Amino acid sequence: MKNCLSFLLCCLMYTSHAQVSSILPSPVTYVQREGSFQINQALTVNPSEINPSLFAQLKELGTIYHQLRIEPNVQNAMLQFKKLENVKQDSYSINVAERITISYSSDASCYYAMTSLMQLMKRNENGLSLPMCFVKDYPNFQWRGLHLDVSRHFFTVEEIKRFIDLMSYYKFNTFHWHLTDDQGWRIEIKKYPKLTEIGAWRDSTVDNHYTTVPRTYTKARYGGFYTQEQIKDVVAYAEAKYVTIVPEIEMPGHARAALAAYPEYSCTGKAQGVEGLWGIFDDIFCSKPASIQFLKDILDEVIPLFPGQYIHIGGDEAPKTRWHSCPKCQDIMKENHLKDEHELQSYFIRQMDAYVTAKGKKIIGWDEILEGGLSPNAAVMSWRGFDGGLEAAKQGHYVVMTPGSHCYFDHYQGKGKDEPLAIGGYTSLEKVFTFNPIPPDLGPEVSSYILGGQANIWTEYIPTFSKVEYMAYPRAIALSEALWCTNKPTYDVFLSVLVQDHFPQLERWKVNYSKSALKASLQTFRKGNGIEIQSTGMNFKEGEMTVTTSSISLMRARKKTNQVSFTIPSNYPGIGQTVNITNHLGLGAKVNYITQPSPKYNASDIVLVDGQFGARPWKGHEWIGFDTNVIVLEIDLGKITKIREVKVSFLQDENSWIHTPNQVEIESILPVRPYLVGRSKAPSLDTKNPNSEIWNIRGFGTSQILRITIKGADKIPQGQPGEGNMPWIFIDEIQIN
Ligand SMILES: [Zn+2]
Repeated sequence: MKNCLSFLLCCLMYTSHAQVSSILPSPVTYVQREGSFQINQALTVNPSEINPSLFAQLKELGTIYHQLRIEPNVQNAMLQFKKLENVKQDSYSINVAERITISYSSDASCYYAMTSLMQLMKRNENGLSLPMCFVKDYPNFQWRGLHLDVSRHFFTVEEIKRFIDLMSYYKFNTFHWHLTDDQGWRIEIKKYPKLTEIGAWRDSTVDNHYTTVPRTYTKARYGGFYTQEQIKDVVAYAEAKYVTIVPEIEMPGHARAALAAYPEYSCTGKAQGVEGLWGIFDDIFCSKPASIQFLKDILDEVIPLFPGQYIHIGGDEAPKTRWHSCPKCQDIMKENHLKDEHELQSYFIRQMDAYVTAKGKKIIGWDEILEGGLSPNAAVMSWRGFDGGLEAAKQGHYVVMTPGSHCYFDHYQGKGKDEPLAIGGYTSLEKVFTFNPIPPDLGPEVSSYILGGQANIWTEYIPTFSKVEYMAYPRAIALSEALWCTNKPTYDVFLSVLVQDHFPQLERWKVNYSKSALKASLQTFRKGNGIEIQSTGMNFKEGEMTVTTSSISLMRARKKTNQVSFTIPSNYPGIGQTVNITNHLGLGAKVNYITQPSPKYNASDIVLVDGQFGARPWKGHEWIGFDTNVIVLEIDLGKITKIREVKVSFLQDENSWIHTPNQVEIESILPVRPYLVGRSKAPSLDTKNPNSEIWNIRGFGTSQILRITIKGADKIPQGQPGEGNMPWIFIDEIQIN
């Protein structure tokens, strides 16, 4: 084995800039002056200058941030407050001079000023010090939200309060509480006690990623719910921290828990248990009047519990199979001249909209509620990209942007194989940081309907609150930067403040935050007769962050496949990593696409021959994806090589419409004349054979160019997600032995 290893270092410096504060999200203006303000024992405040609730919050913030005592002092307080009139909504300023002065326009902005003040304080040997400075600040967007799914996994009242605490420290103001779904109903409804007696509990929960074959279940009763008294307590707790709660009662889909308790409100009336598998299910609420009344009765109890103006009614992922074959639903369509089931969904949602509107509230729903016509007062939460939201905004509806690309915190945040199980996808800290709810070139008229943005935390793969924290932080802080800041710094400046000032604070709060964003990012290039892996990572030393680039070269295996590992060290605890490479005869070989991959999943053609296998569940970047069912590509080894077998690896992920192919054929081409040597036939489509993810094709002699032809199905079979559409084919690593 002759691997050539080389190590290069180059450093870029990010020294702390004088006008960068330790406040996140970053303020509009920060001016630092010479000197500091020292607080030795306690911070004195005149309590008559602010309302008693804010005084209580200040005491709590003092304790939680710095173990700092806040003491009343009417005559000569160190911290003074001034109420401003006629200024921008929720704006505040902090002036640290001989005294500290907070000027604020609303109680919420006073709370925001207090959190900023706490973030400015640094501990020294005498106590706490503040830089002499001036801060002026206000939010860019009015909807700064985090969502939490408590149906797939349940979280206690204490955990919900901690979730609210953390979001309030980062100036979020909206908590979207996803209270109902197929796997559990979580809110007490007095008129329908079976919703929580039966609907809050499931008998089993699917193990591992739900695409794992064979599928297994943990057979244990799982569940929980919140009483109305507990809900009131949480709402009041959130209100004191200027967080509004938006409850979500899903309809007409994601209703299996409710229908387990009251099957009479489905189309078929069939009794079924609360679901223990993740996904989308055909049984939804019937559109008949009795079901509509059932939901109205539920809303009668939900609405008075939540003082905010919005009630979320779901509206997403409602298969129309049952409605299509239900005589009652079909009669309603005829009576109301509805041309299809999408219009029936629209008719359903309109009734809810009218009901909620009559009670002085507004509905918001996922972007599917646009299909078949949108109710006049409805606001839209755009999750399937930006387009639904843009369409709604153009029609004059308010919109909250939560696109999966930037705002789904159930996706992976790191590329490492050591990331805990997630649903799939890859949404890095940097990606979240770059989020802008308003797409470029959108005129002011339409953009005025975009209220802001929100991250969604779906909990299929998040069974514990500790993992909620891991998935949410620090990405939530990057999102707060995206939603709050008018004056967003560069990502490097943000990262530097995050790591130096906020990670230690999260550490003190015992938040299980992720350090994945600090791990070196790897890029592979072709080099000579092999590859070069470049790693770019961060190092931290005495308040300075440096970006370090190093590279490692690896020559292609000459005769036999072998395993090579590299360790990329880091001086930040817990972020060093090991890279495993399978060095084979095709490492770094030239790839010639006769069929072009989808631009969305085409990171670099070297991905196919970089010795690194795409992970499952897939994270996007390490696979090459094709949205066609005949794929032709060639691997050119550059010289005549003796080949024993070729292993082509595919991905099977039905829920993402990704299927393994039916046929893989390899032609061996010598420079002189082409001839066919290897051919392999697939198991038939309806065979769930996990081995079909890897195709082993043997029977080669010597070859130089391998022409690989892959054939997939024309259509996704019935009964599977995306049925009738052409499946995607995802390939990673063509290993040549
Ligand atoms: Zn029906």
